[in-house]
Amino acid sequence: MHLLVVEDDPRLGRLLVRMLGDERHVVELAASGHEALEIAEAGSGIEAMILDIGLPDLPGTEVARRLRARGSRLPILMLTARDAVEDDRVRGLDAGADDYLVKPFAFQELSARLRALDRRATNQAWEGAVLRNGPIALDEVRRLVTVDEAQVELSPREFSLLECLLRHPGQVLSRD
Ligand code: CA
Repeated sequence: MHLLVVEDDPRLGRLLVRMLGDERHVVELAASGHEALEIAEAGSGIEAMILDIGLPDLPGTEVARRLRARGSRLPILMLTARDAVEDDRVRGLDAGADDYLVKPFAFQELSARLRALDRRATNQAWEGAVLRNGPIALDEVRRLVTVDEAQVELSPREFSLLECLLRHPGQVLSRD
């Protein structure tokens, strides 16, 4: 994934960039809330944000709130300090974070939660959207199928069958 880490502690920031990079993520680092908002908005292709609550300019909760107010659906994993857990957790989720992690955390847990966010985002993108696989695109709302951009006529049963297969790429499905 293309990730944005927002962390003002330079040591932790560098560590996260290195460890996430080792897992083949593309990682950018922002050290303040304003920088994070700038990067996240620049059409940068960021797919998820790891957002520390304690930042020098804006709290992480405010960064999340502003992103959501602007219509962003970027998955956000909030990092909270251990001493303010309950409060920060609730405020973070209220502000639009998708998940949170309490510092200090095991890197494996961060990694697992990112995978969960990624899965959720993928599932959401399917809702009423265009399913694609190679040259095939199926628009569920307009009920159109194209192959290499050329429209293909399908019967309703064929359409449903293709829709089912595209929703489960690489899987063997029962006849039913
Ligand atoms: Ca911090």
